[in-house]
Amino acid sequence: MASISLNNVFKRFGSTEVLKGIDLEIEDGEFIVLVGPSGCGKSTLLNLISGLETISEGEVLIGDKRVNNVPPKDRDIALVFQSYALYPTKNVRDNITFGMQTRKVPESEQQAALSEVSEMLHIDHLLERKPGQLSGGQRQRVAMGRALVRKPEVFLFDEPLSNLDAKLRIEMRTEIKKLHQRLGKTIVYVTHDQIEAMTLASRIAVMDNGHIRQFADPTTVYEDPVDLFVASFMGSPP
Ligand code: ADP
Ligand code: MG
Repeated sequence: MASISLNNVFKRFGSTEVLKGIDLEIEDGEFIVLVGPSGCGKSTLLNLISGLETISEGEVLIGDKRVNNVPPKDRDIALVFQSYALYPTKNVRDNITFGMQTRKVPESEQQAALSEVSEMLHIDHLLERKPGQLSGGQRQRVAMGRALVRKPEVFLFDEPLSNLDAKLRIEMRTEIKKLHQRLGKTIVYVTHDQIEAMTLASRIAVMDNGHIRQFADPTTVYEDPVDLFVASFMGSPP
């Protein structure tokens, strides 16, 4: 079970209130996209789910477990960021399996997971290369591979495609969608790109200034926006 619940969640940095009472119910296996303008609190919300930031008030549940005080490594999640910090001196193989090595996963299991994931992501011919010898799209695939081999119940993506050129972005979008269909895991995906949100999401949460303005399926958000902010942000027809 990897549903996610946020109940009346607040986040403050000093006197600045960044999240202002977030309620969100994400079902197991859903593909949720958080959209909204820069600075509205998307990354902060994701970081509260991952545990990289602590909650000021309210609660976060993953499955039926309250995780407010659970460290990131003990939450069954994997994160993919826009700046895919790969180890520059390690080859692709070691970049992907490094996490398994530190957790002392048996060698044969590491090999099996590596083969499965590298085939799925079409990087099986790149395993001996160093990150410096890869294109941006290939590096992003390696970063995804590193997350996938951990076989988490929840994937969190923070603008994973924003460093890629337009053509590659569309290609990777399709790949990520396929991945979700194949794995059926819960995904929370942050972007400021409305089209990305419309193509990927089972439901979209539109954020503005620390609030969720609307949480609904893409068609509803687009065709039946709750207010002017959502309408103008999503580019809804008048
Ligand atoms: P988004 O991802 O939607 O662009 P963020 O969640 O990164 O927005 O940031 C929301 C707001 O919180 C911004 O105003 C940002 O400056 C502020 N913020 C984020 N992280 C911190 C921090 N560690 N300390 C102080 N303010 C922060
Ligand atoms: Mg952000």
